[in-house]
Parts: sequence; C-alpha cells; structure tokens
Amino acid sequence: MYTRRKSATFVADNFLLQFKKKTFIDINKMSKVLIIGAGGVGTVVAHKCAQNPDVFNEIVIASRTRSKCDAVAQAIGKPNIVTDQVDADSVPELVALFKKHKPDIVINVALPYQDLTIMDACLECGVNYLDTANYEPKDVAHFEYSWQWAYRERFEKAGLTAILGCGFDPGVSGVYTAYAAKHHFKEMHYLDIVDCNAGNHHKAFATNFNPEINIREITQNGRYYEDGKWITTKPMEIHKSLTYPNIGPRDSYLLYHEELESLVINYPTIKRARFWMTFGQEYLTHLRVIQNIGMARIDEVDYNGVKIVPLQFLKAVLPNPQDLGENYQGETSIGCRISGIGKDGKPLTYYIYNNCSHEAAYKETGMQAVSYTTGVPAMTGAMMFLKGLWVKPGVHNVEEFDPDPFLAVLNEQGLPWHEIIGGDLEL
Ligand code: NDP
Repeated sequence: MYTRRKSATFVADNFLLQFKKKTFIDINKMSKVLIIGAGGVGTVVAHKCAQNPDVFNEIVIASRTRSKCDAVAQAIGKPNIVTDQVDADSVPELVALFKKHKPDIVINVALPYQDLTIMDACLECGVNYLDTANYEPKDVAHFEYSWQWAYRERFEKAGLTAILGCGFDPGVSGVYTAYAAKHHFKEMHYLDIVDCNAGNHHKAFATNFNPEINIREITQNGRYYEDGKWITTKPMEIHKSLTYPNIGPRDSYLLYHEELESLVINYPTIKRARFWMTFGQEYLTHLRVIQNIGMARIDEVDYNGVKIVPLQFLKAVLPNPQDLGENYQGETSIGCRISGIGKDGKPLTYYIYNNCSHEAAYKETGMQAVSYTTGVPAMTGAMMFLKGLWVKPGVHNVEEFDPDPFLAVLNEQGLPWHEIIGGDLEL
C-alpha cells in the first residue's frame, strides 16, 4: 500500500547526539519534579522519571489517596522518591504542598477537573506546569482550551512555562504535526489524527483510562474543522475502515479531540482537520446500553436519600484501567496522516506514527499501552523543560516548541516513531 518507508531512528539518534553536545545541563542544580495523580498514567510517569535520574534528581508523587503513591514508590524502589497526599481541588492544599517540596515543575496527571486549581497554585508558588488533558468542568461534559489559555499573560509575567496537552493525543500528535511542518511541508492542507487500539484485555467492557473522563469524551457530539468552520456530527455518526501498520483494517470513528483546536490556529494553512478512533462493535453496544439506561449521566440523582452521579458510580464498578495490563495483548497505533505541498513545491502525503505493545508496556511499568503512551510523553515534556529546551514563559500547546529533541528522546524512551512518505492515506 505504501511506497517509501523510512525508520526515524537513525535521524533521531543523530539529532540527540548533536543536542546532547550543545545543551548545557547544570550538573550542580538539583531538579525536582512533582507528579500529581497516581493512576495508570501517573504510575508510568513515575517509572520513566525514575529511569532518568540525571534529569529528575528528586521525585515527589502526591495524590488524593496516599497509599496509591506509596505503592508506586515501593514498586519502583528508588531512594529519590517521596510521596505525599493532596486534594488537588483545593488551591490552599496545593500551595502548602508546593511550599513544602519546592518542585521545579509539576506534572499534572490527576483529572482534567484539577487543571485550573493546579495552575493557580503554580502561579502562587512560582512553579512550572505540564498536563496531558485540557480543563473540563465537572458538571458539563465540555472541554476546550479557552479556560487555560486565559492564564497566558499571568504565566508570562511570572516567567513560568506551562506546557498543555503533553500526552500522546493530545501531545505527540501535536509534536508529529510540528515535525511534519518543520521538515516536510511548505503547506499542510489536510490533517487526520488516527488512533487505533488493537489490544484485547479479555474483559467484556472496560475503558483504557479513567472511565468517567473516557465515557464523557466519546459520548459527545463529533466535531471537525473544514474551510475555517467547525462542523458538528452526532456521536459516532461518521466512520470508515482505516488500515493501521502491523494491525490491518479497523472501523474508525470521527470524534472531537482537543488538539484540533490549537493545531488549526497554529497551522492556518490547514483546510481540514479530523480525529479518528477505533472501537469494536462489542464496545459500542455496551456504550449504547450504558447511555440508554442513564448510567452515563453526570448530574446528581437521589438514591435512598444519598446524592450520586451515575457515571461516577459506574466508574466504581467497572474494571480499574490500572488492572487491565496483566492480560492485555496486542498493540496501539497512533499517528498523523497529512497531505499538502512538500518543501519542494510538489504534492506530498505523509504518515508518522508509533505502535506500542501492551505486553511490553506492562513488562516495563506494570501498566498497559494507553497509560504508557501518555506517561512517556509527559515525562519527556518535563525533561525538555528541565534541560532548557522547552522553556518559554506563558501557556503553550506542544506544537509551539521544537519537535526535534522531543522526538529524539521518545525514540530512546520506548516510543519509536516511523514515517511513510508518498503512501495512500485512505482519507
Ligand atoms: P486515573 O483515574 O487512573 O488516575 C487519576 C489519579 O488522579 C488518581 O490517582 C486519583 O486519585 C487522582 N485524583 C483525582 N482527583 C484528585 C484530586 N482532587 N486530588 C488529587 N488527586 C486526584 O486516570 P489516568 O491515569 O488514566 O489518567 C490521568 C490523566 O491522563 C487524565 O487527565 C486523563 O484525561 C489523561 N489522559 C491523557 C491522554 C493523552 O493521550 N493525552 C490519554 C489518557 C489519559 P484517587 O486514586 O484517589 O482517585
């Protein structure tokens, strides 16, 4: 199907060698990272930070339930990790935590509801910030960057860097697009982000990350960008079969995804931008039933005199995404398919992607590939900041930084990427 393949490993390794020579790392300065959240993603971030002690000299893991942080620290078993407890909905609690530990950067891998409180505490204490999902109010299933972009001036004035959406998608999807723009395209016209999970966890129904956040995301209307306008679709209305490398054809559904919002602003030559995710029929049937019986509701209902939110109750009875790893087989494949005008002025199609094995992710960190593909980029973004390569006071999406050193590190840290130039994008 594709005409020319090139492994990015060689290119990236060379680049890494060059930037290692150029970059100064002040070996006398100790750097401390604070990870907030000890779920699937937080566990991977902690493992990866601990694997890079030259950058992350000291690691603090704090979350609502301290025992979960202790379990992660114990599994890693390194002396430079300490744990703490915090309710990240409370700015005063966060401020006390930041004052106690004095981190250089906080990696927020709690839930999107906590983004703004953590950013407020960062401003109050002079701490830099990184997250993997944009802010979402608890009572409305709606996510957009405006709430966090409103902090731009305050972060800029404080001389602090905030890096938004630094997981895989959002995250690597934006960095891949920036890399395509920098090295391959004069003008990008059509962007399709394609996300396939071809793994099997052997459960009838489970979500791969926080069930509440995941179900809120995929039951929303679809939305894509075309010719300067946003077009809304019914949930899962548009779908088609797409072929994923090493996996084969899978039904892929058009969803709204947050990185589209910043990418069409940062790359104004884009005429159409869409996001696709694969779902199996069994998964969709369960989801339809969950919605039809009211279990996806996010408003409070009265149950025997107790107020409960059905979706939060559902989360409590579904399998914990952190426990899926042990029997998870298969792999994920996430990438960007882009067409437009190449640097040489001729039409160009380009596909950049990573495939990640659930088994390999579990062997390394005890977590499945969805947590792994989110946690590794979050660690990498923090590493870019601490090495002085992604330092830019203000609030920024990942594509606003240099993609080259980031992608070079991903290659070394378990998420190698590949390019297909001149292939059939199917879209
Ligand atoms: P989990 O539900 O497994 O973990 C969330 C963690 O945050 C838990 O440790 C939880 O504590 C903690 N937490 C929740 N509320 C608070 C609070 N008020 N104060 C302190 N800690 C709190 O989620 P995941 O690890 O699966 O996901 C983490 C983040 O990663 C989410 O924001 C998700 O949207 C994002 N994500 C991003 C992706 C990307 O590619 N960009 C892909 C996948 C996920 P407790 O255990 O007590 O509940």
